[in-house]
Amino acid sequence: MNQPVIIFSDLDGTLLDHFTYESTPALPVIKQLNAANVPIVLTTSKTLAEVLKIQADLNIKAPLIIENGAAIFIPKNTFRVQPKNTLSMGQYWVKSFCLPRQHWLEVIKDAPAKFKGLYQGFSTLTTEELAELTGLSNADAELAKNRQYGEPIHWRGDEQSKRDFIEYLEKSGATVLFGGRFFHVCGNSDKGQALTWLTEHYQKNIGAYTISTIALGDGKNDIAMLEAASIAVQIRSPVHEFPVINKTQNVIQTQEYGPAGWAEAIQHLLPESLSSNSFSTKIYN
Ligand SMILES: [Mg+2]
Repeated sequence: MNQPVIIFSDLDGTLLDHFTYESTPALPVIKQLNAANVPIVLTTSKTLAEVLKIQADLNIKAPLIIENGAAIFIPKNTFRVQPKNTLSMGQYWVKSFCLPRQHWLEVIKDAPAKFKGLYQGFSTLTTEELAELTGLSNADAELAKNRQYGEPIHWRGDEQSKRDFIEYLEKSGATVLFGGRFFHVCGNSDKGQALTWLTEHYQKNIGAYTISTIALGDGKNDIAMLEAASIAVQIRSPVHEFPVINKTQNVIQTQEYGPAGWAEAIQHLLPESLSSNSFSTKIYN
């Protein structure tokens, strides 16, 4: 039997094209992974509302890691018993790793006056302004505003002020993560911690077979996830270099950009699972 595997994938710039937000080149591979029962855990800075829509569009059924690792939403049919330290919410068990958004909004509100006017947070942008900044449709921008754990900031000031602002946030207990167009102010969580927690629970569930994990991401907010995975796939970006990671073994850098790079890496890493479904059925009950 092949070793069971779980895929953890970033969305923006990775499974979704940086410019068009489309996944077209990866769709045939996703279909093959679904047939082989390989879970694809979308692991993103996006909100629950946004990821649920994308997950449905891509026909993926697996746990979700939202808001840069702030929480994991686990469909209740994933494990036989409810994992410890999770809450039941509708059809999900929810593991959260940090304080809610309201706490961070107050930290931002209390920032020294000299930063006023140098930034805008999602909470102060109208849906139309956010759509304009991100290229999202108004409907998708509305979903993006619905955050539970952190606040994305769009910086408009100079670099020195930005460094000072970030220093203030960090002294106030916030973690600052750099995504594509925004930096995220949130509690001490990251995608790597969420990957590790979820993999341990899958491992308990399936017993003897050792799970391997493949993480795919393009940004700095993916570094912790890439470092925590058995195999790290750095997806080539059209707008920045590969971020520097400490991991030196089992690291792949794709030739292709975004979802085409995603497909390239998975086809390279999992040729057997893409041609048969004998694989990893034990990952589920
Ligand atoms: Mg990304």
